[in-house]
Amino acid sequence: MKITLDAEKCCAAGQCVLVAPEVFDQRDEDGVVVLLDAEPPAGQHDAVREAAAICPAAVIEVHV
Ligand code: SF4
Repeated sequence: MKITLDAEKCCAAGQCVLVAPEVFDQRDEDGVVVLLDAEPPAGQHDAVREAAAICPAAVIEVHV
């Protein structure tokens, strides 16, 4: 799995961080998403897919 972000669209909702805190973080200054692990291990895949599904701005793209 490989993750890419279109952070310019991020509305800093923080949903991704709640669901997959080992993969996503938010910048302290404005809450915009930060990708901690672009190629997360298998144990994180379900959480990453969920984060992509619930992101209100469709920022997170998951590539198999
Ligand atoms: S859920 Fe989407 S909009 Fe919200 S912080 Fe994460 S990437 Fe940004």
